[in-house]
Amino acid sequence: GVDELSTFLKMFSNKRYGYYKTLKSIVINYDNVRASFTRIQSDPYAPPSILEFIVPRNIHGLKLKRFRVRDYQVLSDYLYRRLYSESIRYRWKCGSGYSCFLGVPKPSPIMIYRSGAEIVGGDIVLRIFIGLPASGRRILVKPLIHILSIIIPRIIDKFRNLYKCEKEIWERVLYFRDYLYIQELLADENAVAFIANNSILPRESSISQKPLSNAVPFSIEDKYSREIRLPSGKTIYGLIIPQGLTVITGGGYHGKTTLLEALQEGVYPHIPGDGREYVVSRPRTVLVKAEDGRFIHRVDISSFIKKTPVIGDTKDFISRDASGSTSMAASINELVEAGVDNILLDEDTSATNLLYKDEYMARLLSDDPITTITQLARSFTRKTGINLVVVSSASSILLSKADFIILMRNYKPSILSREEIGLVEKLPDKQYRPPRERVFKGIRGVEKIRAKGSKLTIKYRDGTVFELDLKNNPRIIENGQVKMIATILKWVIREKITGSTRKLVETINNVFQEKGFSGFTKVVPPDLSWVDGLDVVWAINRLYNVVFEKRPS
Ligand code: ADP
Repeated sequence: GVDELSTFLKMFSNKRYGYYKTLKSIVINYDNVRASFTRIQSDPYAPPSILEFIVPRNIHGLKLKRFRVRDYQVLSDYLYRRLYSESIRYRWKCGSGYSCFLGVPKPSPIMIYRSGAEIVGGDIVLRIFIGLPASGRRILVKPLIHILSIIIPRIIDKFRNLYKCEKEIWERVLYFRDYLYIQELLADENAVAFIANNSILPRESSISQKPLSNAVPFSIEDKYSREIRLPSGKTIYGLIIPQGLTVITGGGYHGKTTLLEALQEGVYPHIPGDGREYVVSRPRTVLVKAEDGRFIHRVDISSFIKKTPVIGDTKDFISRDASGSTSMAASINELVEAGVDNILLDEDTSATNLLYKDEYMARLLSDDPITTITQLARSFTRKTGINLVVVSSASSILLSKADFIILMRNYKPSILSREEIGLVEKLPDKQYRPPRERVFKGIRGVEKIRAKGSKLTIKYRDGTVFELDLKNNPRIIENGQVKMIATILKWVIREKITGSTRKLVETINNVFQEKGFSGFTKVVPPDLSWVDGLDVVWAINRLYNVVFEKRPS
């Protein structure tokens, strides 16, 4: 009970910080909600301690039987947001370092699993950071008692009798089922994405996830508008971007990039009010950018770039400092290997020489080792089944190959047909050969992996410190996902996971599905956010000292 707790905690008065370790062995019972510390920090400057509490089903009162397993993604997101908004009310500071810090990281507007709130076997498991208070290295007992006997019980009370919020939860679950339904519909047609009329695509600023106020809502001309009857009973209208090569064109500042970014975000469901709730993309959609300087490990990029004495063997291409075009070619073929639905490209962030070359230049540079995406696009989309969406307005050459053209004007899309605008195809198509598959054998000599902000820092035993910024992967929305990638990488190394990257993606996703966050780490911290195995592979492909073998053909 809470009274016993205060009596017990009084013993901590003025003790040295190390005495906090005794908290490790206790279980606090807050009216049938049991709490325990799963990590105790060693000093007030170290990352805060972790308190985990379990709210049993008879206490939380949610009728879980009425939900499907997939709905738990929404429940977890809902519970996490509740935990976040409750705990920030009590955020304060005392003593030294992280003393009195309390809470979990702020969630972005996407609805995903987060380790701060999980449903495990019918119970709700919640985890929060607590900075155990001290002044220097002396324990401060008053704030300690305040946190554990007043604040924590108040937070816990918000997770009792949750049937009161069932209406709100159900609204989100029904929306989520609609979202998944649209994703299935897209898969059936092998289409790229759906964007509902009245969606708000632009954000307030590059550092904000809030919708831009007074934005022009998305709307598609009637002729191309599709009606979708959703499982919830709602009917919505909007644009379905079909399979093949889609080019988004238009003048500068007309909303092309904003549309492309929304397609990337569409891999996640969004919370009500976001504006992108009904922007739905196939789950494996990846925006590829040129990444000068990236590492490449034995990727077959020979369809795009022919071998030359200078470049070397492009069937088994290795680089520790890739150029724009080789980096993009490798990134695209890595995605083909791992298995994706859509690849998005933006002229602004691409190596132009890989995207296109006009008729004249193609004749002039007949010895150019590069075969452009323009010439390969048709064969690429047909052979791999992967759709391409490219923002392009500098050249007509890519347009001449497009299956679908979206013209953006004042943030309004219209659909152009090649015949209507008098486009003639100019260059002959070239054949794309899917890359030879590689087998991942491990990452050598890793001493330490850390996630900080958007960056992974890996220390190797040979003294190398390697930094990978996940900002280059536009699928990564929250820092919790970066931390999750770090956690899974450690697991991959510890468990000596090997195999093709396609298999790796599957293995990671299966472990998560079966065991949740605890499938990858014994002590689950409160700040992990779900990632697809694809994004772990994205990181592996770019690290230092990664071993890939050719699959014997
Ligand atoms: P483009 O790629 O065509 O050059 P952007 O997508 O970068 O254009 O958009 C240019 C600017 O217009 C950005 O500041 C963006 O926030 C804003 N914007 C985009 N879409 C809308 C919209 N629907 N309503 C209002 N402003 C928008």
